[in-house]
Amino acid sequence: MKEIHLKEFGIDITLNLYTLGNGSGDIISNLKDRCPYCGEVDCYISCSIHNEEFEDEDEMLSRRDYNSAIDGIESLVLAQAVAGIDVEDEKYLTALHTAIDACGNNP
Ligand SMILES: [Zn+2]
Repeated sequence: MKEIHLKEFGIDITLNLYTLGNGSGDIISNLKDRCPYCGEVDCYISCSIHNEEFEDEDEMLSRRDYNSAIDGIESLVLAQAVAGIDVEDEKYLTALHTAIDACGNNP
């Protein structure tokens, strides 16, 4: 297994590439927005029933859309790393940062 850490521009991504078998991997990152109540990444409104305050619906939908876009970016980064693209290259990281910014700026 090969482990790659990408830490630039506030991006914190860990890629685990499995060199045996079909060349797959997994990705852990700090890129997704977390539920403001429970702190979970994949929680949308479900935990709010236990809180006095509900997450504003527009904010929740915006967070969900952003996280979906980040899902796509994470999948692409992982696929590119598995395919042998140098995801640690400075130019690649600059482009990655730009793409992540764009996700945040296009609700
Ligand atoms: Zn929650």
